[in-house]
Order: sequence, then C-alpha cells, then structure tokens
Amino acid sequence: MKILVLNSGSSSLKYQLFDMTDESVLAKGLVERIGLEGSLLTHRPANKEKQVINTDIPDHTTAIQLVLDALTNPDYGVISSMDEIGAVGHRIVHGGSVFTETTIINDEVVAEIEKLIPLAPLHNPPGIAGIKACRSILPNVPQVAVFDTAFHQSMPEVSYIYGLPYEYFEKYGIRRYGFHGTSHRYVSHRAAEILGEPLEDLKMITCHLGNGSSIAAIDKGKVMDTTMGFTPLEGLMMGARSGNVDPAIISFIMEKENLTIKEVDELLNKKSGFLGVSGVSSDLRNVEEAASEGNYRAQLAIDMFYQKIVRFIGAFVAEINGIDVLVFTAGIGENSPQMREAVCDKLEFLCLFIDKEKNKFRGEEREISRPGSKVKVFVIPTNEELMIARDTATLVK
Ligand code: AMP
Repeated sequence: MKILVLNSGSSSLKYQLFDMTDESVLAKGLVERIGLEGSLLTHRPANKEKQVINTDIPDHTTAIQLVLDALTNPDYGVISSMDEIGAVGHRIVHGGSVFTETTIINDEVVAEIEKLIPLAPLHNPPGIAGIKACRSILPNVPQVAVFDTAFHQSMPEVSYIYGLPYEYFEKYGIRRYGFHGTSHRYVSHRAAEILGEPLEDLKMITCHLGNGSSIAAIDKGKVMDTTMGFTPLEGLMMGARSGNVDPAIISFIMEKENLTIKEVDELLNKKSGFLGVSGVSSDLRNVEEAASEGNYRAQLAIDMFYQKIVRFIGAFVAEINGIDVLVFTAGIGENSPQMREAVCDKLEFLCLFIDKEKNKFRGEEREISRPGSKVKVFVIPTNEELMIARDTATLVK
C-alpha cells in the first residue's frame, strides 16, 4: 500500500509518499508560501531530478492538487494515478484530551479537531485545511489523523494538572498536554527494537532536542511525564523560546516595559532562549560558532541549555524510579556530539558511561554507551513521517 503523509503549516505543506511494502520513500517535497506571493513547490522524487514549480498557490486545496499532479506527472511523477494512494496520514498538532491515539478521520473527528482550535490557534487550522482539501480531492481515500499530543495522554494526573485553581482545568482544559509525541514514540519504539527487548520492560528518557525541545519519561512504553505543557513553551530553554521561567516575571516585565499580552507572548516565544540569552541566534550552530570565538553570552546560553537537559533527566529518572535507556534525537540531539558528551558527563552517577570517540558523529543511528554502562545511550534520528505512515497503514488495514 502507498501512503501519503501530510504536514500542513499555515503557509507551507510538507509531504512524503511511502511504499509500505518496504517503507521506502517514493517522493517527498515542500510547498511554500501558500496564500502569499512567490509560492512554489519543491518536489523530490526518489531516483529522479528535483523539480521546482513556481506557480500561484492561493490555498491548501490548490497546494494538495499540485502535489498530486507532481506525484502522477508522466516525467517526474512516481505513481501512474491517484488511485494508487491507499490512505493519507495527517500530522495534527493538538488532539487535546480527546485523542489519545491515532484516529480515522470522519465528520465527527474533524468537528472535534475544530473544537480544539483555541488550544492550538496557529497549528490546528492548517491541519484542518489539509484534511478538508484531501477529503474533497480524494473523497474515497481513507484519511487518518496522528496527533503530536496523543502519546503523552498516558501521563497521570499528578503530571498534567497545574497548581492552579482546578476550575480552569475543568472550564478551559488548562493542563499539561506535551508535544513532539510522535517523535518520542518513534525513538522509544526504535530503541526497544534495537535492544531486542520489549518496551514494556524498559524505563526510558527520550530527548527531542531541536529548535523546539522536549524530554519525555517513558515507563513500560507509557509516557509518565514530559517537559512541554499546555503549550510548547514550557520546559527546556529552546532556540527562541524561554522554557520555564518564574511566572511572576511576566507581569513584572509587562509593567516595566509597558508590553501588551501579544508582545509578551512574542517575547517568550520568539525572542528568548538561545537567541535572547546569547543575542546571536536561535540556531545552535551559530551560537556554538560565536562561543568558540569567545562570545561570553553565547557560551552561557549553551551551558544553560545543557544544564536544563541534565536537570530534567535527573528529575525524570527519580519520577520513574530508574533508567535503562537514554535517547537523543532531532536537530541538536542527532548532530551535537558536544551536547551529548556534556550531558552524559553529568549522569555518570547513574552508571551511565559513553564512549567519547564513538560519540563523535552526526546524524546517524548509533549506540554511544560503553559496554560496561548500566544505561544504554542511543542517538536515533527521528522519523515522524514514517511513524505516521505506519499508524495510517495499520488503521486502514
Ligand atoms: P530541528 O528543529 O530538529 O530541525 O533542529 C534544529 C536545531 O538543530 C538548530 O538549533 C540547529 O542549530 C541544530 N543543528 C542542526 N545541525 C547541527 C549541527 N551540525 N550541530 C549543532 N547543531 C545542529
């Protein structure tokens, strides 16, 4: 079966077409600047030349039609007709408390995802636009929704209820949801597979460290706690997001700087983190470069990031009362040997030891723990699209 995986953003659409007989990617690509001037599609078929198509793309329906045209094009397409697509898997950011697992899409599911828009006002609307466009263009093809929040729904109440008046949880659904769930699920399953041990026998901490970062504590295959919360702002310090700060700072700064709610929201989400502390960039590569040239604040941002990772790993090990496996994934997790070494050096009290030579690489799947280490440490490139394709194939079967 061939599965089309879609990840719709407000002005972009990423896609991958999988052949599930061997899980190979037949084609992938990106539509950019939907609804804006200069919109384009970059289509990358396997074993054929990349195509860049510059054309007017006013909405998600046009974008998806364009993707389907590219996939079936006689010259650079990879399938002969749309009928070859067995199902479509959609990445949806917020599934609230309602969606605890991957779900076949019908009218009720669309209505439920729409109800969750207040919880993800920037992310759920493009996801819904993608679903609606696909349902109109491919009315007979099953559609499946895979939620970023779903894997974390196994968290116990003690992890997800905030120390706020309980009525806000009841009235507005204010609780911790967690994000990057598909990535944490993929790498945890993959680590168990590499080890050849059932997930149910393992205590794991998975670290998704990229532009947005989160850590999850997974016991017997179930998330018990995670660092992101009601929104992806909570937890670790990130590229441009502050992560945890004393909440009283917010009203203090608003008063001092005369900021509106929108401005303070932007400050916390877009001007903080590596960018805010270093003053250099939200991209760790640039921050590392500046630090190597002696930039004090760049080095401070890096040290703070490492320290916060260690802090959450330590807390989570205590929460789940042990650790068998530590996993690093995403842009920084996969590509920064310095970060992995600095973090693991602080965890030797857990009898966690890495092979520092083996750790010197980027972007591949590898065990980096030493033979004597009680805790196995892996770097596993994340593959959310494959997880979505697998879920979709399983559900429609
Ligand atoms: P992601 O959001 O998963 O795409 O990750 C983006 C982050 O990964 C950015 O902060 C990048 O600086 C970081 N990253 C990507 N490649 C490298 C690298 N070679 N060394 C250090 N950080 C990297």
